Amino acid sequence: MYNDLKARDKAVNWHPYTQMKTANEIIPIVRGEGAYLYDANGKRYIDAVSSWWVTLHGHAHPHIAKRVSEQLLKLEQVIFAGFTHEPAIQLSEQLLHLLPANQQKVFYTDNGSTAVEVALKMCVQYAYNHGLKKTKILAFENAYHGDTFGAMSVSSRSKWTEPFGDLLFEVIYIETPTKNNFERTKAIIEEHRNELACFIYEPLVQGAAGMLMHEPEDLDRLMQYCRSKEILMIQDEIFVGFGRTGRLFAADHLAEKPDIMCFSKGLTGGTFPLGLTTCSQEIYEAFYADDPYKTLFHGHSFTANPLACTAALASLELLLSEETQYDIQRICKEHEQFVAEVDSHPKIKRLRQCGTILAIELQIEENSSYFNQQYAYLYTHFLNEGIILRPLGNILYLVPPYCLSSVDLHFIYHTIKKVLDPSQIH
Ligand SMILES: *Cc1c(COP(=O)(O)O)cnc(C)c1O
Repeated sequence: MYNDLKARDKAVNWHPYTQMKTANEIIPIVRGEGAYLYDANGKRYIDAVSSWWVTLHGHAHPHIAKRVSEQLLKLEQVIFAGFTHEPAIQLSEQLLHLLPANQQKVFYTDNGSTAVEVALKMCVQYAYNHGLKKTKILAFENAYHGDTFGAMSVSSRSKWTEPFGDLLFEVIYIETPTKNNFERTKAIIEEHRNELACFIYEPLVQGAAGMLMHEPEDLDRLMQYCRSKEILMIQDEIFVGFGRTGRLFAADHLAEKPDIMCFSKGLTGGTFPLGLTTCSQEIYEAFYADDPYKTLFHGHSFTANPLACTAALASLELLLSEETQYDIQRICKEHEQFVAEVDSHPKIKRLRQCGTILAIELQIEENSSYFNQQYAYLYTHFLNEGIILRPLGNILYLVPPYCLSSVDLHFIYHTIKKVLDPSQIH
């Protein structure tokens, strides 16, 4: 069956972020349970990257499955313009209760990139509805906010976005905040202040950039400055939300509050695609008018899908349980111990940790062919050991589901330490 699935896949499917000609062999997965995935040969893998950062409580979780299957027999989908339903109402109520107090309204979409698109459109049209033209966006260097055109525009430019360069809109980039660069950043913001529709940022951790991290105090200072200059702030918690940083949201590490927040990935516990954008009353009111042209003309077919909202509610119950909160702290502590243990290893250039997110930057020369071989070697090596780790360049990282046992976590650490042993690296 394994080879049959592989061959049929190759005949018809085009995979994301994959050079189909030179890609590693594709692995057909037939089932998941807890932190494990099983391939068609029955081989077990530890999902150490939460299936692209989405899975919170493990695969095929019975509680989520039960709630979703009950909802499936009641109402599977309904148009969200002119209609509503209990799961969307409940989810909005519960989320707003957990978010910073200024978040007052929820706008649903169906993935992270579209949650970002909505946030950007809210900000640009906020200015427009006030009779102003503000169309430039402030973003961090090395940012990643998604792959649709708007989200791609506010992400950092790279080889990957090069074919679309002329079609991307103008963005002013600033460095992520440190103790030393505040004055420089202030000058850039001051220069463009009147044209800026908003500032969009990944708080505390820039995931796709390689788990780059900055300190909450430094981000707070920057946010306070943006607030004083009346620049709207979009906090993209698509990756860091729902416990990844050790607290429920990155917002829980910050004193200053954003105007808009974006969520997806862990929102449904990784069960269904769902995105949402929350905003303050002030943003909402800029669209609340008798004038029909002040409407936010945006919507996706599957907006607020009842099954996805139900999965999100079930996931939230699990997340807030004592057991999961304990597991999150357990993973944080184990990561800390591992960091202390291997910190001075000569093969490690830098170690970074924020809550349950751990990144190990390896001492390797980038852009060399040696580097590419190294990537393929590491990826395959971990797969052979039964661990799914997809390095970002020379950066190994762990974003585990919270149900990952300490035994499995230590097996992953052990496997990483073996890789660091020079005699193991070819
Ligand atoms: C993954 C991600 C997105 C995009 O979400 P998709 O659902 O993949 O479109 C946006 N922002 C951040 C910070 C992300 O990590």
